[in-house]
Amino acid sequence: TQRVFSGVQPTGNLHLGNYLGAISKFVTMQHDYESIFCVVDLHAITVPQDPAKLKAQTREVAAAYLAAGIDPEKSIIFQQSAVSAHAELAWILGCIARIGWLNRMTQFKDKAGKDKEKASVGLYTYPVLMAADILAYKATHVPVGEDQKQHLELARDIAAKFNNDMNAENFFPLPEPMIQGPATRVMSLRDGTAKMSKSDPSDLSRITFTDDADAIAKKFKKAKSDPDPLPTEKEGLEGRPEAKNLVGIYAALAGTDVETVLSEFGGQGFGALKPKLAELAVEKLSPLSAEMRRLMDDPSHIDSILTNGAERAEAIAAPILKDVKDIMGFRPRG
Ligand code: ATP
Ligand code: MG
Repeated sequence: TQRVFSGVQPTGNLHLGNYLGAISKFVTMQHDYESIFCVVDLHAITVPQDPAKLKAQTREVAAAYLAAGIDPEKSIIFQQSAVSAHAELAWILGCIARIGWLNRMTQFKDKAGKDKEKASVGLYTYPVLMAADILAYKATHVPVGEDQKQHLELARDIAAKFNNDMNAENFFPLPEPMIQGPATRVMSLRDGTAKMSKSDPSDLSRITFTDDADAIAKKFKKAKSDPDPLPTEKEGLEGRPEAKNLVGIYAALAGTDVETVLSEFGGQGFGALKPKLAELAVEKLSPLSAEMRRLMDDPSHIDSILTNGAERAEAIAAPILKDVKDIMGFRPRG
């Protein structure tokens, strides 16, 4: 079977990049695949989290999934820490993966900061847990933003090495990354060379799910740009990261491509593009944030969806984990 797995961390500040790069893709893919969407709280604690906030932020990601249009009857929505197979399989896969492979991961280098010795062991082994998330369900397709491409490749390498080392040919399918469209890497509105991120200290760097129309307009107005008019051809965006970013966001929000956007705005300045961009973003995000607020008013409803999702997720992962333990040679508990 073709199965989708993906996740979002409950680290607050859900933003336009999460929507365009990931969540909006989940919504369309759920119609074509058996889909599992996770709130990855075990990943969130690779950097310190306030326990009370973590709980609220977990419900917030679930609410965002629902508000964006994921159908909890059809797809599975659940919380990672509620299904122990993730952590168990991560241990086993950690004994398959090589230290040299993890040493090449650029996200660790970016997130660990200057003093790598002070980063948590969990931040370092994060990609192994991510491989476990996917492989615990034998997922075949993983919709993610560009920033997760390297981790996906690692998950494929781990799956292949497991199959090979354990003489378990084709046991784990090699998961396909699904990274498509004009906004797979939305950049910060303050710096066209940095990814838009939940953890960026500047609120002006991102459009969030809870921004109102005024905030969205203000943030696009203040967004970094350059003095030249927009080009008429796609090639003209090279070397202009801010222009490329804003045009890409526009294309994704309008459901079109970069060429079409440039045929409309080419030759004009950012003063023409930015207000239209704000208008489009408000059109997309305001119903979403209104629905999220409505859902957040009833945490027990969200909790019942997460509980039901965890049961369904567990039912898929448990037999796969059992097979893995058998392949490893662990004596069954009986
Ligand atoms: P953090 O800063 O805490 O890592 P994040 O913004 O990177 O937060 P994640 O929860 O790590 O968000 O990622 C959730 C999903 O959103 C992943 O599929 C990731 O690839 C995607 N994503 C994150 N940022 C962007 C972005 N700027 N553009 C496109 N997709 C993104
Ligand atoms: Mg991230």
